[in-house]
Amino acid sequence: MRIELATGDITTEQVDAIVNAANSSLLGGGGVDGAIHRKGGPAILEECRALRAAHYGRGLPVGQAVATTAGRLPARWVIHTVGPVFSAAEDRAPLLRSCYTTSLAVAARLGAKSVAYPLISSGIYRWPKDDAVAQAVTALQAEPTTVELVRLVLFDEQTREIAERVLAGRVDS
Ligand code: ADP
Repeated sequence: MRIELATGDITTEQVDAIVNAANSSLLGGGGVDGAIHRKGGPAILEECRALRAAHYGRGLPVGQAVATTAGRLPARWVIHTVGPVFSAAEDRAPLLRSCYTTSLAVAARLGAKSVAYPLISSGIYRWPKDDAVAQAVTALQAEPTTVELVRLVLFDEQTREIAERVLAGRVDS
């Protein structure tokens, strides 16, 4: 599987599946989640509501992932995953890595060959961006998969530069 970086808005990605940095409620939020629902239209939220009612009465647990249609987005599916809120007191990195691996497993089960991920937990949930990139790449490289391409979509140039530094193994900020 190839991992590449991209910069910009994940909702425009022409891939089989895009991953949503959702929250447990599955009922929408800010950041990536807000953009996906705004641009994807109401079909995504309707499916999220149905999933919530049928399977996740108490919300989707942190580290897990579930797929819906992508509505009006160019992708075919949205895979919703719930990242952990960053904590300096507790190591929640296994949960963050689980977001990447469970989303990848869901994508493979759907038959997706290309998947775009945002930098999960690095916005509203405050995970330091350099470590968020390191966790993403570690998790994505951990297991073999039928997914052929993963694109890590960084929202702005500054985050892109951080990601490039981390991938080059030269983290100095
Ligand atoms: P979380 O709650 O998991 O932290 P956020 O959506 O707040 O999720 O942010 C995750 C990352 O995605 C942040 O780095 C943020 O800057 C970035 N981001 C926000 N909107 C978009 C978008 N439309 N496309 C790609 N990345 C985005």
